[in-house]
Amino acid sequence: MQSLTLTKEQLQKMIAHVDSLSPLEACGLLAGQDSKVEAVLAVTNQAQSPTRYVMDPIEQLNAFEQIESSGLDLIGIFHSHPTGPETVSPTDIAQAAYAVVYVILARVGRRFS
Ligand SMILES: [Zn+2]
Repeated sequence: MQSLTLTKEQLQKMIAHVDSLSPLEACGLLAGQDSKVEAVLAVTNQAQSPTRYVMDPIEQLNAFEQIESSGLDLIGIFHSHPTGPETVSPTDIAQAAYAVVYVILARVGRRFS
């Protein structure tokens, strides 16, 4: 199982982002090197849904370019479950297209998967 190293500031940035959009799901990308996160990039949830997320494709592309021009790699994808559950949903598994670490921020505690 893979894991990521986040600073407290990065975690707070992720939480602030997802909290600001709650009860809708929020999502974003984690850029870094190896397993160490260097940047948190928030991406708009185009689905505007409390139960699923679709990253805005243009923002996602811009974020990928930003990551690449910084010499970093995409190492994680995060999204929130504002109304639960704490666990990965079947949709999450079906949509997990990248070989990166998926992070889910649920309202009751945090689970890193
Ligand atoms: Zn999910």
